[in-house]
Amino acid sequence: DERVCRICWMGEEKEACVRPCRCSGSSANVHAHCLRKWLQIANDYHCEICQFKYQTKVRMKPVSQVGACCSRTRSAFA
Ligand SMILES: [Zn+2]
Ligand SMILES: [Zn+2]
Repeated sequence: DERVCRICWMGEEKEACVRPCRCSGSSANVHAHCLRKWLQIANDYHCEICQFKYQTKVRMKPVSQVGACCSRTRSAFA
């Protein structure tokens, strides 16, 4: 019974999979670092399949830092 991460489709050669939500079967398996990356992109803390709220703590950029980044980008193109 080989477990495969549902985000990157890799096995457990480099990192063990976790089951962070209520999904069952092979679709529940995910690498912790893949989940964190996916949550940052999705900006959502719920599983899209079972709507379970992930317990994973994700470090998000504070809004002030995002604003500073955007203003720098704007001035670079001005
Ligand atoms: Zn993965
Ligand atoms: Zn789920």
